[in-house]
Amino acid sequence: MAQQVQFQLHATDGKARTGVLSTPRGEIRTPAFMPVGTAATVKAMMPESVAATGADILLGNTYHLMLRPGAERIDRLGGLHRFMNWSGPILTDSGGFQVMSLSELRKLTEEGVTFRSHIDGSRHVLTPERSMEIQKLLGSDIVMCFDECPALPADEATVANSMRLSMRWAERSREAFGDRPGHALFGIQQGGVTPELRAESAEKLVQIGFDGYAVGGLAVGEGQEAMFGVLDYAPDSLPADKPRYLMGVGKPDDIVGAVKRGIDMMDCVLPTRSGRTGQAWTRRGPVALKNARHADDPRPLDEACTCPACRNYSRAYLHHVFRSGELISSMLLTWHNLHYYQDLMQGLRDAISAGEFSAFEADFHARRAEGDIERL
Ligand SMILES: [Zn+2]
Repeated sequence: MAQQVQFQLHATDGKARTGVLSTPRGEIRTPAFMPVGTAATVKAMMPESVAATGADILLGNTYHLMLRPGAERIDRLGGLHRFMNWSGPILTDSGGFQVMSLSELRKLTEEGVTFRSHIDGSRHVLTPERSMEIQKLLGSDIVMCFDECPALPADEATVANSMRLSMRWAERSREAFGDRPGHALFGIQQGGVTPELRAESAEKLVQIGFDGYAVGGLAVGEGQEAMFGVLDYAPDSLPADKPRYLMGVGKPDDIVGAVKRGIDMMDCVLPTRSGRTGQAWTRRGPVALKNARHADDPRPLDEACTCPACRNYSRAYLHHVFRSGELISSMLLTWHNLHYYQDLMQGLRDAISAGEFSAFEADFHARRAEGDIERL
């Protein structure tokens, strides 16, 4: 097993890439989808079940973990991997994004962000240095730079100032991270929807030097068309021999479009969150299990899916347990959704390896256009 974090590309098809990101804790096949384990758990899933869906790596949220149960406590208990019983790689975000979206009474300065916890109102400070310290205490394998991201739409001056602050923080993050063999630090490109700002940000990040690069500041409500518009050029300015990570994406069609544009890694709460609200993602698009049309339907959710929800239960059962508020509803639908997402990633990797990305993409959209199976 690799002693250092290394990225090796195996094949490309157009801009789409497939390869392996090797870490001392295991290999991550790319393009990779990372399930989100916000509070040291992928909600409604045992870690071994998450692994069974085909996930190579999980994402943990620094903001949530620093507030509860606390990074120092997790460190005393042996680190995040042991704490949550996940032995594979873990990527942690920097906390920056969630401070801005969840906390109260935020105050942003050159130094960092002061805020109050959304849980108990306690006062906290996050800086690039503290974010690096927390992610080290957690034992994260892939650490993200501390950055700031304005909500879009924002005027260009606001986006430029924010991007330049993030680049100064990237430099401080790199300095604070230091030399940690076997662990990776990713920089985050900002610059909104302005090509010149994206290029300036990429140039600065490459100059500092990182083990991987995220395209940041997207999936914040700008819509798919604007996001793809940025992805049409933004990844090109990042080093081709390092992994590219698109944070917080997305729906299945967002994922296919991002991979097409050269993205290697993604994460999103969508498959797990949908699993708890009765929504399943299938090859034929989303299915709402709460709908009465499923009440007498003995067929599986997706006859071609090999997950436990599809192999062992009917749509009628999934409808019943969701409508009854039974916990197994969240468990089964989360499992199915994560399984579907990992199947999609495997399909993308195979298609890129075979030089058949275009055919895969056409088939993906054609199946979804059919919609769900005819009602009985
Ligand atoms: Zn299934």
